[in-house]
Amino acid sequence: MQVNEEVIIKVKQELIAYLYDNGFYSLILMLVLTLIAGSLLVGQVDANGLLGWLIALLVALVLRGWHLIWRHRTPHPSLNWLEYEYFVGVTCTSILWGMGLLMHMSQTGDIQRGILILLSCLILAESCVSLLSSRRCVYGALLPIVLSLLLELASGPSQRALLGLISVAVFVLTLMLAMRRLSHWQLESLFHRFNNAKLAQVLRQQSEELRLASQRDGLTGLANRGCFDLCLSAAWRRCCRTQAPISLILVDVDFFKQYNDYYGHLAGDDCLRQVANGLARIPRRDDDLAARYGGEEFVLLLPFTAEAGALALANQLREWLAHQAIPHAGSAVAETVTISLGVATLYPHPGDQAASLIARADGALYRAKSAGRNRISVA
Ligand code: GH3
Ligand code: MG
Ligand code: MG
Repeated sequence: MQVNEEVIIKVKQELIAYLYDNGFYSLILMLVLTLIAGSLLVGQVDANGLLGWLIALLVALVLRGWHLIWRHRTPHPSLNWLEYEYFVGVTCTSILWGMGLLMHMSQTGDIQRGILILLSCLILAESCVSLLSSRRCVYGALLPIVLSLLLELASGPSQRALLGLISVAVFVLTLMLAMRRLSHWQLESLFHRFNNAKLAQVLRQQSEELRLASQRDGLTGLANRGCFDLCLSAAWRRCCRTQAPISLILVDVDFFKQYNDYYGHLAGDDCLRQVANGLARIPRRDDDLAARYGGEEFVLLLPFTAEAGALALANQLREWLAHQAIPHAGSAVAETVTISLGVATLYPHPGDQAASLIARADGALYRAKSAGRNRISVA
């Protein structure tokens, strides 16, 4: 699986968020277990030692609670630092609990010892679940308690000590194995999740780029014929519904074959790009569309535009091109590149075909050509 930096950071963020989101649950459980242990040991062990231990644990839990609230309000930008902070809190609490075990277990009876071992195992199991996303924190929580338990059990009567040691060792080993597997699954699923999200984003972007490319003309960057056909039928339907006029201007470069012959096809391409620039610059509404109709022919689609407006735009385009004064030595009508324009306007009615608008504009263009080129003809 190919994983990039962005995905790795997202996974790390998710892991740290898991750690901090579970923080309050484990603090509450730890508090409950501390109170149970305290009530169990009252009267059994040295009162001052017990009080000191309980106060130290409660202070540690309160400080960790305050730390969680503070970090929820002011998150630290460094994920590693957040993990270290949590590790310190967890390890300190664990050391305090382990010290309690070492201090008090030898002073109590078998039942209390057994319950203390059980409570400690509950803490170990809970730590593995709530600290699943950070191996460092798991070791910080487990090692002090496990070492204290093993030390304490090893100092008891030999047979019972051996049994206790084996039970705790088996429990811890099973816990570690389960935790290893779970954390592996957790990591794998997070990597897949973020990697797939990234891939989906790239695919969406690419398909959008392809969609746009499929609507563009490669040479001029204007909309292509396919896009024009779609826009024409949509605009036709809209104008039909609202009984509004729709206009079309067909634009054809005069003597373009001669231009190619004289200046070459590459210069011809440049010339087409320049004419296309002119079409793209003409001020138009959002609904209007400039497209390359094919070869050296362009089209301006003007929904909700009456004949006068279309004629004004046609004039504007012709004047703009004249102002550009692109030399055309092969033209029989001028010394610069010129265009002929056919303008058509219709008020579409239900049942009419959009092709009729093209046919009218084409007829007008033909008349402009026949009348000598470099002019506008209105259908
Ligand atoms: P008229 O004034 O009657 O329009 O004559 P014309 O020479 O412009 O028209 P004709 O249809 O005879 O020739 C069009 C030329 O446009 C022929 C073709 O090679 C050229 N052409 C079409 N597409 C392109 C293109 O993408 N690049 C270039 N350089 N030339 C093109
Ligand atoms: Mg032509
Ligand atoms: Mg032409």
